[in-house]
Amino acid sequence: MNSYSLVSKPSYNRRDKKKVVREKFSKMIRDEVKIRYNNQCAMCYQRGHHIHHVMPKSRGGRNVITNALLLCNTCHKEVHAEKKLLNYWIRHFKERYGKHFYHNREDLELIYKTEFQKKNNLVVQKWLEHNEAFEIFRK
Ligand SMILES: [Zn+2]
Ligand SMILES: [Zn+2]
Repeated sequence: MNSYSLVSKPSYNRRDKKKVVREKFSKMIRDEVKIRYNNQCAMCYQRGHHIHHVMPKSRGGRNVITNALLLCNTCHKEVHAEKKLLNYWIRHFKERYGKHFYHNREDLELIYKTEFQKKNNLVVQKWLEHNEAFEIFRK
């Protein structure tokens, strides 16, 4: 009997991969991000075409405007290859939009439940300020 074989098969991998839904930012959000960044990559100021999920989708990042960053092809690859760089932008967006920058309305409703209805929570207010106008285009 080999007891190692019992622990060598992580069964969660396949299930998690299945769960990943291939969603993209809506056209409305993509257009708005390009306007805000003046079509320039946020890192090198060359022309940017890629809309990066600041908080990766694999870590719960949603298709909301406060989770979108405009990058060029080269810098986008770099951000995904360099953990420090990825985390830099996460920190930066957290400071700019609050700790829920990568969440959507459904997430916030779950997190705050009744507070969300009353809109009396400061972090919820901050989120709404930046995202409310884009919500109908979030799909
Ligand atoms: Zn760039
Ligand atoms: Zn990306």
